[in-house]
This record gives sequence, C-alpha cells and structure tokens, in this order.
Amino acid sequence: MDPFSRRNVLSLGAAAGATVTAFGARAATFGNPDSPLEGAVNSNPKSLQEPGPKNPVLDSQFPDVGSPPQTDIGDMPQFWSSFNIMPKRIQAGGWARQVTQADFQISDAISGVNMRLAPGGIRELHWHLAAEWAIVTNGSCRVTVLDPDGHAYVQDVGPGDLWFFPAGYPHSLQGLGKDGCEFVIAFDQGHQSEYNTLLVTDWIAHTPPDILAENFGVPVDAFKSIPLNDLWIFQGQEPGPLAQDQASVASGGIAPNPFTFGLGGVTPIMSNKSGALRLADSRTFKASTTIAAALETIKPGAVREMHWHPNADEWQYWIKGEGRMTVFDAGPRSKTADFKAGDVGYVKRSQGHFIKNTGTEDLQFVAVFKTPVYQEISLSDWLSHTPPALVAQHLNMSVSDVKRFIDSRPGIMPV
Ligand code: MN
Ligand code: MN
Repeated sequence: MDPFSRRNVLSLGAAAGATVTAFGARAATFGNPDSPLEGAVNSNPKSLQEPGPKNPVLDSQFPDVGSPPQTDIGDMPQFWSSFNIMPKRIQAGGWARQVTQADFQISDAISGVNMRLAPGGIRELHWHLAAEWAIVTNGSCRVTVLDPDGHAYVQDVGPGDLWFFPAGYPHSLQGLGKDGCEFVIAFDQGHQSEYNTLLVTDWIAHTPPDILAENFGVPVDAFKSIPLNDLWIFQGQEPGPLAQDQASVASGGIAPNPFTFGLGGVTPIMSNKSGALRLADSRTFKASTTIAAALETIKPGAVREMHWHPNADEWQYWIKGEGRMTVFDAGPRSKTADFKAGDVGYVKRSQGHFIKNTGTEDLQFVAVFKTPVYQEISLSDWLSHTPPALVAQHLNMSVSDVKRFIDSRPGIMPV
C-alpha cells in the first residue's frame, strides 16, 4: 500500500491536522515537478525528523544535501570532495594533500594537489606521467623547468599566476620571501598522485657510483654525501635574485613560450555587476596545451548562469566564499551540493549546471578543463537564438515572453 496515496494522507490528516493534508495531497506543480513528489515541502513534518545518530557540525555544512530542493531528482555520482578532509603529508619545508580519483571516483580527467612551501621550502626536482597545471593562491614561488630541446625556464609567480609543465618535463618549486607560498596543482590524469613522481634523489641514490662518475664526468668522490632516501619536500636556502638564476641556465636557449601565465591580471571575457570570468587556455597561455582554465568570481546573491561545456569535464577548486551548485543530467537527474573554500567540485562533460553564491562575500573558484580550448554553451543564449515560436511551443510560454530572454551570454546574472 502506498503510504502517500491520497486516501491515506487524508486519513492521516484527519488525525494529525489540516497541514498534513496540504502536504501530502499536493499535485505536481511548477517548481515541484516530480511524481511521487520529492522534497521537504511535500512531506509530513514528522517524517523530516532524524532521531538516529548524527553529526550536527557536519550536517550544518551541507544544508542542501540534508534537505535537497524539491526540483532535485535521481541518483548521480558524488561530485563534491574537499582538500579539507584529506590527510596532509607534512615534511620540513612544507606539506601537501591531494584529491585523486582513488578518493573521488567521478574525477577521471583531473586530480588535484594542494601544497604549501615555507620560505626556502623546496619540492624536489622531479617529473611524472601527467601534465601539471597550477594556480598560486598565496605568497610567491620560484619554478624551474626544462623542455626536451634543452631550453631551461626559471620564473617567480604570485597569487593568481599559473604554471604549466607538459607531461614528463622535469621541474622544481620553491617558496620565496617571508611568506613562502600555497598553490593548487591540477594533473591532466585523474589517477596521478603527488606520491608517485620520479625523483632526482631516488635515481641518483639507486645508480652505481662508477656510472654516476662516468655519466657526469666528475670523480666518484663528488657523490659521496648524496642523500640515500628521497627528499620530496625539504627545507632549503632561499634562492638568489631571479635574474641570476635565469642567467645560470641560459646556455641552452629560450623556450618558445613561457611556462607561466598571469591569470589574475587578464581582462575578463565576461564581466558585469554580478561578477567576472577570466580565461587562460592555449590561445593565450600557449604552453598550456592540455589544460584550459576559468577563474570565476560571483558576487553575493548572484548566479553563474545555466550552461554546459561540450568538450571537457569541469574540475573546480573553490578558493573563497561559499555557494551551491546544481548539476543536471539525462534521466532526469538533478543534484545539489554545498561548497566552501578548499572544496573540489566536478561536472562531467555536457552536464548542465549553475552556481548560486549563498554567502555574504565574493565567491571565487577556478574551473579546470582537460582541453586546449575553453568552450561553453549558455542555455539562455541557445533559447534566445532559436526561433521564438519553436521555443514557445516547447515551454508552453507566450512568444513575447520568450523574446524577453536575455540574449547576451552574460555568464553571471543579474547583469
Ligand atoms: Mn610535479
Ligand atoms: Mn561550468
């Protein structure tokens, strides 16, 4: 027997009062579409109680998960994760933590690392199978990298700056100044781990001393104090002036394109009173051949418009503020999750989504795509560039209302 059949709800209502009747007897309506109805507004208040064990602190962080909007429906893989719940590997000189596909199943195109390097702290010379894209969130950092043509590149980066190291290119990172740095790395493979990188100290320690001497053309004795275990992150001495480091590696020539880029300072591709969207892909950040990125700022109360990306999944790192993202897929499926600073979000290619700033501060996140070129389809752009009578028949609306849809791809609303 269906406990929410009209007859049962009416008899329950007779016993418990008129409010219960109103909840259960409601038919699917605008903004409340499902059959059977879903969401707290459709429920007997008693059924909303949660008398069993619970964690009130955790509950308070996820209001739209505990009580989803009544427009949410269906199952969908978890698209929320967070650096805040991942264990740190702490060493002298800094720390790192990561969200890889091992912990976040949906994230097959991108894995993320959050790293801190103290002043002078060094992430040791290494390389790996995936390409490495990163954004600096705090402080400053010196990067070094070598390309296969022997061009060396040394540069200092600060907040809002990016770097990109193609797969297999050897590189290092070092914290600068009085504050060191913090940054987030996105690898272009979901299973790439910061723990699984090829380290210069490991290879040197595991090569016979006579081979080392022959390979480098120096006496064996020169290597007698090498570390026997790898360093990974270690406390080093702060480097000298940038120009001096650049001059010391200049003999191999200059790479055709810089491996760093100032995303924070570029002119936004979309900007209005509700926020801004800044872009760095291979058209502007030419070295970044496998990653495109959008730095998105959304003002309190504003909405990142309903849209999707036809050519790549979207991996998000939430930098500041808080918000709510709803993702739409065939089925129908529609799911909402709450995000705060330090969280990671993921939207599969071509799934519709929008984000609402639910806080009192600017919301900012960076969206990372495994593609050379950023692409976005705006729902309002599509429906305002389809013959109005055709749209009106789909939505059972008047043609005049359809003609009022915003048609300027605003990015963020209201304009
Ligand atoms: Mn690396
Ligand atoms: Mn998006």
